[in-house]
Amino acid sequence: MTLTLRECLPDLVTELEALLRAENETALAEQVQFLEIVDRCRCGDRSCATIYTAPKPDGAWRGDLRNILLNTDGLTVLDILDERIVCIDMLDRDAITKKVHKLFP
Ligand SMILES: [Zn+2]
Repeated sequence: MTLTLRECLPDLVTELEALLRAENETALAEQVQFLEIVDRCRCGDRSCATIYTAPKPDGAWRGDLRNILLNTDGLTVLDILDERIVCIDMLDRDAITKKVHKLFP
């Protein structure tokens, strides 16, 4: 079963699209609604709601990697690999954390 960001976290989709457009990251904004959630981070930190939108590699990501820090409650950083959003790092975003942990026990 595939979980899309749009189905699971529609408010997050709206938020990310708006913030990316505000940063003139139009191509990335257009990806957001199509992102699939592969898994969540398993670091064990209860405030962590990080989700992978591409399979996590065994080691480091390979390719052209950059990060975008977004202005949200808590902390939100997008990992962009070869201009694809591969990970959404989120910390201290309580409402989202609850949903993510429920989706991926
Ligand atoms: Zn984590």
